[in-house]
Amino acid sequence: MKESKPHDRQLVPVLFMTFTERNCSSKAAMFREVEHFCQQLSNFTRTHIEAGRGYQTGDNTHEHGIALVPKNEVQRFWSRFAKFNHNLVRDGRWITREQMTQLIKKKCETRFNKSILELAPFDTTKTTEAFHYVMAKHEPVLSTQSRTAFCPRYYSRCKRGKCDYANIAQSY
Ligand SMILES: [Zn+2]
Repeated sequence: MKESKPHDRQLVPVLFMTFTERNCSSKAAMFREVEHFCQQLSNFTRTHIEAGRGYQTGDNTHEHGIALVPKNEVQRFWSRFAKFNHNLVRDGRWITREQMTQLIKKKCETRFNKSILELAPFDTTKTTEAFHYVMAKHEPVLSTQSRTAFCPRYYSRCKRGKCDYANIAQSY
C-alpha cells in the first residue's frame, strides 16, 4: 500500500459540482446529501477530497462544491472517476438536468424523489472566479456545519487512523 508523503499535500481542484434540491428543501437535508455524495466519491475514487462548498436556500435551493484532491492522487482520481456513475449513489437520487427535464415532460411522479447533480471538470483558467462564486456569492458551508473533507481510508496510514490530512482526519 502506497503511503502519501507530507510534501505531496498540495491540493488540486478537479471538479465543479452543483447540487440542486427541490425548492425550499431544508438546509440540513441538503448538507446531509452533499456530504454523503462527497464521501461516496472519495470512497469510489480512493482519493482524499476537500470540498469548497457554498449554498443558497429558499426558492432556489442548491449548493456548489469545488472538489480538490492531493496532487499525488489526481491521476488515480481521474482514472477511477471515468468509471464513476453518480446515478448509483443513494439509489438513483441524483440525476442530470436533462434526465429531470424528461421526467417533468412525462409528468413522472418519481421526479419528486430526485435531485439534480451536475459535475464538470474544474476549469483551472477560472480558479479565482470559481472560488469567489462558490464561497462569496453563496453562503459558505463551514466545516462545523457539515463535513468539507473526506478520507477514503484507502492508504494504510488512514486505515490505522493516522490520516496525513489533519483536517480530513478530524472530520471522521
Ligand atoms: Zn486519509
